[in-house]
Amino acid sequence: MNTSPLAKTATAPKYNRVLIKVSGEALMGDKGYGQDLKTIQRIAVDIKEVADSGVQVCVVVGGGNIFRGISGAAQGMERSSADYMGMLATILNALAIQNILDQTGIETRVMSAIEMDQICEPYIRRRAIRHLERGRVVIFAGGIGSPYFTTDTTAALRASEMSCDVLLKATSVDGVYSADPKKDPNATHHATLTHHEVLSQDLKVMDAAAISLTRENKIPIIVFSILEQGNFAKVLAGEGKYTIIQDQK
Ligand code: UDP
Repeated sequence: MNTSPLAKTATAPKYNRVLIKVSGEALMGDKGYGQDLKTIQRIAVDIKEVADSGVQVCVVVGGGNIFRGISGAAQGMERSSADYMGMLATILNALAIQNILDQTGIETRVMSAIEMDQICEPYIRRRAIRHLERGRVVIFAGGIGSPYFTTDTTAALRASEMSCDVLLKATSVDGVYSADPKKDPNATHHATLTHHEVLSQDLKVMDAAAISLTRENKIPIIVFSILEQGNFAKVLAGEGKYTIIQDQK
């Protein structure tokens, strides 16, 4: 019997196509750097659960577990070169997720904004849509292919281009709080917010470019914790604790 929350008829998926943004840090597990394969396996199981329920899944992966352009620049590198290194880091992560998703029996394609013919496909919007329609999970790598951007903005851009119903930001906390809940015991959880509130209160959810783009394209954002197994399907079914950012509350 399928026990996924998405399999329940009362909470049948109201989403046809979703994009999940997984930061590089989410792939580190307890390590201070790099990829933890056990953690990636857990995330892959969550992605499989959603894909198996018939929801089309796009993945945007970050690279902060390996290299961030801004840190390279802080140490004296030229920012654009450092950012290209960051973009390459996202490709390393995308290949790791693809490999592990393949092992779970889910068909995937990595599409990179930076051409790397021998290892993955170039990003071509119409081809990406075709893969999704055929039930393949598409992992968008290489950011948007330009320095000075982030993978949060990439997630907002690809979600817009793919006409996703929702963008899910997978984090280590179960939503957006008034202050950092790890530091302030009085921090309160927001169940809902508008894009405007996130921007005007400078809430640290995603960078401002990503929030503006999703607002303009009317894409809700769900901020949730990826640390708990099965949460991806759960929040899509409207269960558990998360924050939803959308214009009509
Ligand atoms: N990056 C970039 N352009 C993009 C996306 C990413 O230059 O369109 C670079 C940037 O240096 C960034 C790094 O890739 O620091 C890794 O991405 P990000 O910091 O967004 O990863 P995350 O924080 O999600 O792990």
